[in-house]
Formats: sequence, C-alpha cells, structure tokens
Amino acid sequence: MNPQRDQILKELGLGPQWRLRQASADDAKAPAAPAAAPAVEVAGTAVPSRRRAAPATETAAPAAGAVDARNLDWDGLATAVAECRACGLCAARKQAVLGVGGRQADWLFVGEAPGAEEDERGEPFVGQAGKLLDSMLAAIGLKRGENVYIANSVKCRPPNNRTPEPAETAACWPYLERQIELLQPKLIVALGRPAAQTLLQREVKIGAVRGQQFDYKGIPLIVTYHPAYLLRNLPDKARAWEDLCFARRIVGS
Ligand code: URA
Ligand code: SF4
Repeated sequence: MNPQRDQILKELGLGPQWRLRQASADDAKAPAAPAAAPAVEVAGTAVPSRRRAAPATETAAPAAGAVDARNLDWDGLATAVAECRACGLCAARKQAVLGVGGRQADWLFVGEAPGAEEDERGEPFVGQAGKLLDSMLAAIGLKRGENVYIANSVKCRPPNNRTPEPAETAACWPYLERQIELLQPKLIVALGRPAAQTLLQREVKIGAVRGQQFDYKGIPLIVTYHPAYLLRNLPDKARAWEDLCFARRIVGS
C-alpha cells in the first residue's frame, strides 16, 4: 500500500479495510449473483486482454426521424452532437457534451447527463461528482484522459438537473451506441440507474445488479453507484469500492 493510495482511500472515505487486491478466494464472496440471473449475465471471469474484433451484433437501422450515427467517425460524432436538436434538451443547453478520453481507451464510464458545470465547460464530470469519480479512478490506478473514456447517457443538460426522460435517453442513444462501437472498450462501467437502464435496456435497481458481470455486444459491463449518489450516501462508498475492485479484476492489471 503506497502513501498516495492510502490518501485516495481516505478521500473516498473507505478507511483501511478496503484494498485493491488480486482475485482470491474471499473475492468470490463479494459480488454475489442472484439466484435467477438475467440472460445476459456471464460468469465473473477475467476477459482476455487483447482488443476484440468488431461486435457480433449489427447496429439496427434507426427509426424514421431518429438520429443515424451508424457511419460517423469520432469527428463526425462531435459535430453531429454539437449541432443536434433531436430532443427537447437542446433548448436550454449551453453546449452538448460528447465525452472525454482516449479514443482507444480500455475503460468506458457512463454517467447520466451533464450538470451545470459540465454544460459550461463542455466536459463530463467536472463538478463535485466528477472530483469523486477522479478519486475513484485513481484508486484503481486510472486517470481521466489516459486509458479511460467518460461519457453520459444524454449529451445535453436537463433543466434543473432533473433525470432525463426515457424519450430523451432514447433520442440520444445512437450517439452512445456509436461511441461504444468506435471505442470497443474492454469494460463498460455504468454509473447509476439511468446509465444502467440505458445500457441494459430494462428497469434495474443498482443494489440488485451491482456485483454482476453483464454482456453488451460482447463487451463486459458492470454497474455501480453514481458518484453524486455516493456523495450523499457515504456507507455505499464501500460497496462502490468492491465494484471497482471487481472491475479491475475483469480488465486485468
Ligand atoms: N453527473 C453525470 O452523470 N454526468 C456528468 O457529466 C456530471 C455529473
Ligand atoms: Fe441531441 Fe442528445 Fe442533446 Fe437530445 S440530449 S439534443 S438527442 S445530443
């Protein structure tokens, strides 16, 4: 345990009991799977470290009038999102926030929607919740802008930071779908319920789905608490830490 990591754990409010460790017998106890596992859940084994080939599932053609992001490259995505008016969230935004990070990043973290500071600066997770996210990344040896890409389920700030409506999330989905297709990360981490529901395409409760490994078109996907929720619910930070250790084991060191 190095002093820096001790400091990080202290900042996370995790105390001395949580440590990043290699997979071991007692790790198996932590992420308990429910008796009736959903069809997409896969065994919690490590995935090979090589980047996978193209996803097995083709992206479906969009409905009439919906965003078609299927053929966009990164620059095309950035332009399309900046100019997008496909849902009502375009009205009050200062700017759309596509995401931040390396276009070859192994890790993808997906949040809910930009807040006031993100809307102002054009980068996801730069407010209070973002500071905690950065600490969480640091605790497992990751850094914003390096091997991590950070995005949101919707790219424009909902008024008063309300939760995005299902119709808004659906309208914005082709952009995130294309981001994942271009990125081909080794792991997707859904932060909070809206992101989890967007990616799993069903209603979920975080407490019920965290600790499980899901499959998104051949890419491992896990769910954990949203950092803004953790700021208000300190006891769940310990669970978030377990989830991060689980994530680290899936990707390998
Ligand atoms: N919360 C989110 O979900 N995303 C952000 O970008 C900022 C806060
Ligand atoms: Fe377009 Fe998404 Fe912004 Fe809606 S939230 S206007 S779909 S970029």
